[in-house]
Amino acid sequence: MCKHELYHFQACNHFGIEIHEVCSGALFTSGLKGYLPICKPDKIFRHFTGDEIHLTVTVLWHDIDGACRECVEKHHMDDTIYQTDEVHRSIHPAAIKASHPPLDPLARGPYVFVPRIAGSVFRLIGAGQIARDHWWAEGPTIVFPQTVLRPTWGQLRGQPGAAAAADKLEVRGQWKASGTEVDAEELDDLHGLLGISEKGMTRQDITDIMAEIQFNQGLESLGAKWAQMWASSFAGRGMPSELFNETVEELMVRAGIDGEEED
Ligand SMILES: [Zn+2]
Ligand SMILES: [Zn+2]
Repeated sequence: MCKHELYHFQACNHFGIEIHEVCSGALFTSGLKGYLPICKPDKIFRHFTGDEIHLTVTVLWHDIDGACRECVEKHHMDDTIYQTDEVHRSIHPAAIKASHPPLDPLARGPYVFVPRIAGSVFRLIGAGQIARDHWWAEGPTIVFPQTVLRPTWGQLRGQPGAAAAADKLEVRGQWKASGTEVDAEELDDLHGLLGISEKGMTRQDITDIMAEIQFNQGLESLGAKWAQMWASSFAGRGMPSELFNETVEELMVRAGIDGEEED
């Protein structure tokens, strides 16, 4: 999960969700798909299930002296929040009841701050060391500029129909930051050049997995073997296990082995 901080800014009475750390799964996807998917802070939205509100849930926002990033950028307001000296920051949790955030999907929600992320395709998918080991060129850098998004509550919650207005955000449990300087075609070329499959495997990865499949031909299920391989070689690179499993199944089919696992 990406790490978030929730802020309430006293000078402008705005709320902000700031991403302090982008998770390895999001970085991996950014190197693969060309957009940066940010995990949502579910605790804010947990009290909304359909049209129901569960009033027992409270969300803690850090109360901050000064104005939010958006106001600082737009109106050059007091920017004491950016002082690194903790003495100038007055942070105390403010319990905001479930009546806030509002239900109105069209009302403006907290802004979402996404930091600048940049890296080569190999680094973003966690294969930088593999590239260096093979003396492969790293290729151009993909840049996701620092952004402050200001969506509606509907867009933040990913309500059906609400996300259409902003292509910077999308549903399915994640927020998406666009703005890569590499377009889809360039990204395809880069992956081809660097031998990365559509699921983020290098040529060597696929060779290794194929060898494992051939070596173990005849075994009914290799589930535990694959789980171990994912944990030792792919989890650290940020590759989601579903992507790994999909690739293994495809390669098993290619090798003429039924990839379906037994229950
Ligand atoms: Zn994440
Ligand atoms: Zn503000």
